[in-house]
Amino acid sequence: MENKIQLFNTLTRKTEKFIPNEDGKVAMYTCGPTVYHFAHIGNLRSYIMEDVLEKTLRYAGYDVKRVMNITDVGHLSSDADTGEDKMLKGAKREHKTVMEIAKFYTDAFKTDCEKLNIKWPDVVEPATNCISEFIHMIEVLLEKGYAYKAGENIYFDTSKLKEYYVFGNQSEEELLVGVRDDVEEDTNKRNKNDFVLWFTKSKFEDQALKWDSPWGVGYPGWHIECSCISMKHLGEYMDIHCGGIDNMFPHHTNEIAQSESYLGHKWVNYWFHVHHLNDRNGKMSKSKGDILTVSTLEGKGIDPMIYRLFCLQSHYRKPLEFSYDVLDNVKNGYDKLIKKIDSLKTEAGLDHKALSELSLKIEKARKTAERYSKDMNESIAKAVKGTEVDATAYIDFSDKFLAAVGNDINTSSGITVVYDVLGSNLNAVTKLVLIDAFDQVLSLNLTVDRPEPKAAVDPELEAFVLSKIEERKEAKKNKDFAKADAIREELLNKGVAIKDTREGTVWELV
Ligand SMILES: [Zn+2]
Repeated sequence: MENKIQLFNTLTRKTEKFIPNEDGKVAMYTCGPTVYHFAHIGNLRSYIMEDVLEKTLRYAGYDVKRVMNITDVGHLSSDADTGEDKMLKGAKREHKTVMEIAKFYTDAFKTDCEKLNIKWPDVVEPATNCISEFIHMIEVLLEKGYAYKAGENIYFDTSKLKEYYVFGNQSEEELLVGVRDDVEEDTNKRNKNDFVLWFTKSKFEDQALKWDSPWGVGYPGWHIECSCISMKHLGEYMDIHCGGIDNMFPHHTNEIAQSESYLGHKWVNYWFHVHHLNDRNGKMSKSKGDILTVSTLEGKGIDPMIYRLFCLQSHYRKPLEFSYDVLDNVKNGYDKLIKKIDSLKTEAGLDHKALSELSLKIEKARKTAERYSKDMNESIAKAVKGTEVDATAYIDFSDKFLAAVGNDINTSSGITVVYDVLGSNLNAVTKLVLIDAFDQVLSLNLTVDRPEPKAAVDPELEAFVLSKIEERKEAKKNKDFAKADAIREELLNKGVAIKDTREGTVWELV
């Protein structure tokens, strides 16, 4: 198939035409969360943008297999093998076991993803499922001379590599910024950048999860899990590896070091890194104590879709500055957009279900034509037969949308195409099927049916109803059921139905 997507590759620091290892197929890996707390919306920015990347590839006709790990063991509070174990820290904080913490926060992460319309990856694997794979990889690294045992831990020996600083233009001083000064240097390390592949109990006596290994009872280092879990499901060659830019060093640098030493060849072709979410004071993160979550937003009455749109309005390789004022503006824009789309639905007489069925049929034809390089005009003309959809316009705008988002996931350009469609002189049905198709990538709930807004209740009536409910309560208390029934009747005559529930008496207009 024709390659219509360009991606900025952190490995080469260039925007490149995306060419997968196998024609039409994409092997994609995402570094998953460490499940010791709720996800910060800054981390969720990465998952939103990776979701758009996956959906853009699917829109372009690729078959995507996406894998993600869940870190439920081995991630220390500093990414460089020092500090406390994050999972243990979470368990102590909440007086729960590590596995209870892992289950609770994995579920919470999944709920956040659902609220933000982030598709759950095809394979999601917790690190604790793959201990034997980690041990195997470490054994091979030891055999090949890339690892050594010191102080009962197993370390990766970075001096054996031809090159370690894989992400280009970073200097050694810059790399050291990520390493905290207040923690003791691990004296077992032969070289400064060596990292732990396997910890034994010598590191933490109170480590909750431990496994037998050829080197003693212990647990894996953090970096090894992504190498093993990705290879287990995607094989030895990967197309795209994603993560937040925090992961570039040491995590991804170390993943490459150990994976390529193990495999003996290049491992990943494209690295996709999403930039930070900042506030006026700089990067927002959990470790700084700003635990800003999806629930925090909802608590302030902000629909998670507004946060998604906020992320999509800027480019993933730029820092994004968060503020509630900006979210307010985003909400105003979103509401206007939805209003326009809703009026088109009324004009076309299509509800969400009917629209999706039509759009899915056309999209299937378009994607198949992309995937197998078939004649697009013929495919779409056939799919839209008997409908009002303008086939030529459909193809033109689809190409325009793919050119926009396919240009290094330029989501704001993609959104501009939505407005172009709305501003065009196409008929309502054509506009709607196009927007529904684009929303498979943007996932902003653009075409879903919304309940009619409730009419405002007259405050006088409300006060009257509440006083009558109180009066009835009193009557019931005095066992004057005839009076209680009379009040119910009186309210019903005024168009108000009441219902007794465990939480008290509720009412509605009928
Ligand atoms: Zn990872």
